[in-house]
Amino acid sequence: MRVVSLASGSSGNALFVEAGPQGRTKILVDAGLGVRVLRERLQLIGVSLEQLSGVLITHEHSDHVLALPSLIRRYRLPIFTNAETFAAVEEGLATGAWRSDSGKLVNSPADVELGITHLIESEVALLEEQGGVQVTAHVKEAASVNHPPDGLPAHFLTSGKIHVLGDIEITSFPTSHDAVSPSGYLLNAGGCRICVVTDTGEVTPEMLTMMHKADLLVLESNHDRQRLLRGPYPYKLKQRIFGPTGHLSNDQAAQAVLQTWHPNGVRWLWLAHLSRTNNTPTLALTSMRERLQHAGANLSQVHISVLPPGMGGTWDSTQLWHAPSLWDLQP
Ligand SMILES: [Zn+2]
Ligand SMILES: [Zn+2]
Repeated sequence: MRVVSLASGSSGNALFVEAGPQGRTKILVDAGLGVRVLRERLQLIGVSLEQLSGVLITHEHSDHVLALPSLIRRYRLPIFTNAETFAAVEEGLATGAWRSDSGKLVNSPADVELGITHLIESEVALLEEQGGVQVTAHVKEAASVNHPPDGLPAHFLTSGKIHVLGDIEITSFPTSHDAVSPSGYLLNAGGCRICVVTDTGEVTPEMLTMMHKADLLVLESNHDRQRLLRGPYPYKLKQRIFGPTGHLSNDQAAQAVLQTWHPNGVRWLWLAHLSRTNNTPTLALTSMRERLQHAGANLSQVHISVLPPGMGGTWDSTQLWHAPSLWDLQP
């Protein structure tokens, strides 16, 4: 399993995930960049847009969906999300405007004149409530007949159920954010698991259960509370970010990691969706390390890094197998 962060933060989010023999299943979690930039960044890691099998969407804010009009209409890329978020995406496609994270309307750079075609619901095993490797072959066959040329390719995910996309098992779960039905994801391929939790104002027990299972955890560490409090944002926006459907602070992120801490727990932690105004990479990193250390956690158990707004952050489990010491607990 190879994971590369293509962008993280309020200026755009996209996470590339590849799994299976020769990396044959390639997906994105969110596509909140202009399609040209997205294409360029994928090219840097040897991937073309045409090779992607689908895009998982966490929620409909512009910093997560900006490239969707092009990806859907020009590249016929299927979207994977829940029905509510898809309805919001459809609306964005129809109007050519997305709601930004801070509530402003952002115009889509893509072609809106093509209009919306009717939604094709997936009737195949992709949406079936099944786990296990046997499903994969069945799904790969069925998926090819699933997108007639005039349809908008979409697959609805049901929270808490395992869906299979090629070599990747997807489990979605609700997050707490001011979007119609925001989700986090647990992705499992060949026994490696990554969990993506960004854009949430609080951490629920359900989210903790998913985070608990991850080898690589991509977790929001949006702001430093004091910085946000004293910073330039208008009062209403501050209230929203602090609120239960806003964004996780550095403290909340550390608290969540501590709540899921166990000897075989998360080995790689990527701090994500940092605010450029109300946080710095150093603040996020030191805050996490200090909180963990203070609670008595063994810091050598986890590799912590901060995702930059641009490209950065690569995790390749195939290389890790060749360096088993990276999996071992240090004394
Ligand atoms: Zn966001
Ligand atoms: Zn958001």
